[in-house]
Amino acid sequence: MTEALVSLDNLAWNTSLIRKRVGGSARIMGIVKANAYGHNVHRVAETLEKSGVRDFGVANIHEAIELKTGGALKKPANILAFSSPLPSHIPFFLHHDIEMTLCDSLTLQSAEEIAAAENKTIAVQLKVDTGMGRLGTPPAVAMELLRQIDHSPHLELKGIYTHFADSSTAEGTTKQLDAFKTLTAEYEHASSKTVCKHAANSGAILSAPESWLDMVRPGILLYGYHPTKNSPCRLDVRPVMQFEAKVIFVKKVPAGTTISYNRTWTANEPRSIATIAAGYADGYTRALSGRATVMINGNTYPQVGIVTMDQIMVDLGTRHDVKTGDTATLFGWEGIGADSLAGLAGTISYEMLCSVSARVKRIFI
Ligand SMILES: *Cc1c(COP(=O)(O)O)cnc(C)c1O
Repeated sequence: MTEALVSLDNLAWNTSLIRKRVGGSARIMGIVKANAYGHNVHRVAETLEKSGVRDFGVANIHEAIELKTGGALKKPANILAFSSPLPSHIPFFLHHDIEMTLCDSLTLQSAEEIAAAENKTIAVQLKVDTGMGRLGTPPAVAMELLRQIDHSPHLELKGIYTHFADSSTAEGTTKQLDAFKTLTAEYEHASSKTVCKHAANSGAILSAPESWLDMVRPGILLYGYHPTKNSPCRLDVRPVMQFEAKVIFVKKVPAGTTISYNRTWTANEPRSIATIAAGYADGYTRALSGRATVMINGNTYPQVGIVTMDQIMVDLGTRHDVKTGDTATLFGWEGIGADSLAGLAGTISYEMLCSVSARVKRIFI
């Protein structure tokens, strides 16, 4: 009843636009956390691989294992889990050959011990907190951790990275980028090694070319949306997901009829009302109640009353051609974009996309 069409062509198109923007020198790490922002990690990773992507970023070891063992990737790939692992997670990095984010000395020591006990190597990346305030080692102790990694025979340093708190403008990234570059230069000078350095999310891909370094980490841009409304540069990206649901009931109501829970909406004249088979359990958030529009047969109609768990109602007005079985587009490349719809609910396209629930069938086109 409720479907998310996923256009793998649009995904490949968006990937090619990002590739064109960053040029040949920076690798692209495809960010596929949260089931590829709700699009299906396997099909997305498969498509990205065909576009030449060899690096993938996920939230944690569980997502990494799902991607690794799912069979979508046919070529050797690097999978990095962004979370700082708990000690109990460490063996899984070893056994599944997943790159581990290191933020502290204790985890580093545990990883070395666990890898040494099996006489194997864990690939690690050092995460530096230059100002996001979420995960990472403070720059002041990063050099010490890097030395420690270099002295750990069972750890292999595959990269150093940081994450921006505000990448909507170049200025928003400057301080963090400076701190990061200072640190990585110091390390590369002291160790005579070069290491993969990366920082840029979608925002920085658009706003801060000097942050591209050796690799960029686009998420939302891959899926067809700009991270903020006022990006200084916009790419011609296309939404990858279209969220659709069927009209399951159409009725005429007299003036004075109220619609949905708590009777928040009343027909002030005779109207036609369609009931559509999608609700907040599908990811059509209740915060949209009375704010959204949906598109049916090319026309836009207001959603009225409270969004319920499994259905919403729309006001078809007095003259319309809508009938049971018609398809309503809730967001996507037709009708309203996930970013604009998200704005009506006080959230962002990211949350709109990854809220599309498991109940919604993904159809790959
Ligand atoms: C989610 C995430 C990204 C991608 O962010 P977008 O804004 O979607 O491009 C990049 N890096 C890290 C560490 C992330 O967690």
